[in-house]
Amino acid sequence: MTGSRTILGGGITIDLDAIVRNWKALDTVSGKALTGAVLKADAYGTGAKVVGQALYKAGARFFFVATPDEGVALRKALPQAFIFVLDGLVPRTARDYAAHGLMPVLASMSQLTEWLDFCLNQGKAEPAALHFDTGFNRVGFRMNEAEMVKRELEQSGFEPQMIMSHFACADQPTHEMTRKQNGLFQGVLNLFPDVPASLANSAGLMASKDYHYHMVRPGISMYGGRAINGRPNPMAGVISMHVPILQIKDARIGETVGYGAAYRLRRDSRLAIMALGYADGFFRSLSGIGGQIGGRVAINGRTVPVLGRVSMDMSVIDITDVEGLVQPGDLVEVLGPTIGIDDVADAARTIGYEILTTLNGRFPRGYVNVPDGVSLD
Ligand SMILES: *Cc1c(COP(=O)(O)O)cnc(C)c1O
Repeated sequence: MTGSRTILGGGITIDLDAIVRNWKALDTVSGKALTGAVLKADAYGTGAKVVGQALYKAGARFFFVATPDEGVALRKALPQAFIFVLDGLVPRTARDYAAHGLMPVLASMSQLTEWLDFCLNQGKAEPAALHFDTGFNRVGFRMNEAEMVKRELEQSGFEPQMIMSHFACADQPTHEMTRKQNGLFQGVLNLFPDVPASLANSAGLMASKDYHYHMVRPGISMYGGRAINGRPNPMAGVISMHVPILQIKDARIGETVGYGAAYRLRRDSRLAIMALGYADGFFRSLSGIGGQIGGRVAINGRTVPVLGRVSMDMSVIDITDVEGLVQPGDLVEVLGPTIGIDDVADAARTIGYEILTTLNGRFPRGYVNVPDGVSLD
């Protein structure tokens, strides 16, 4: 493993080869459609520059970031890639996008006008995509603006690189909204028959080839997360996290654990105090306070529960039933082969996306299985 070391020990390990294998598997499923890669939020917390290089080496050419600043950072690692900015065009920054070769995914009439004016002043059509809102009510042109967009494009002679939309409910396989959004999307495409189209996130990609169009945009499934609820997740795990035990102690039945004395021991117990808290992305909702499922971590492949409230820097686990010697300094698996991001997400009543993107605490991030030619600096 590469990466900086701390005195404390522990850390987060990203398996780059697993990300590449996941992307290639998705690329196979997407058939003739191009397979993009969504690297927003620092590649869901796994490191956009490093992951971008590994995917580029594997053949990926189309990348999606959220903000123009993420795009500028990614451009340094990927001088040749196509980079789309999903947040759209930030007012009065068209020049910055063009300077870094970033394509805004234009989402409103004012953004479109500003981009077309910019191109006119430059005397050069700078590439951009268009986002139509098929029911999400997030960024995107409203359906009834499609005709107006078409007129603007005809008048200016501008040809967008791509037309896209985004699913609201593709993670729920039977949700009627997905088919409805696809129908509305087709209506838009009828107005722009020559422009490549993109609709599917990970869940849409896995749900049906009807949603693949010219390019798919997987994010979470590349990083090993579950895209479709209630189905087995076929993707390889990508991230592992281990943290050290600080102290071990024996406590008696009836004593309480942690802030708020929220958990009362039901038996004489052996407790281990881990150097892991909500400041490290181990959510307070993973507290074990009885009556609700709390978080679990693993020691020697066996899962054990969190007891009491997760605090900022420490949490307590019950190691009474763990066989063999457990000592201060030993590492506990928070994420890895025994515990996946969706296990943690389910226990924390959130989604794997949030687990991944909030692991930005005190633990250093290192990489294993780094393809040749990928620079970690
Ligand atoms: C985040 C995002 C994606 C990727 O979604 P996943 O569910 O992570 O696959 C694709 N398209 C858009 C517009 C997004 O915002």
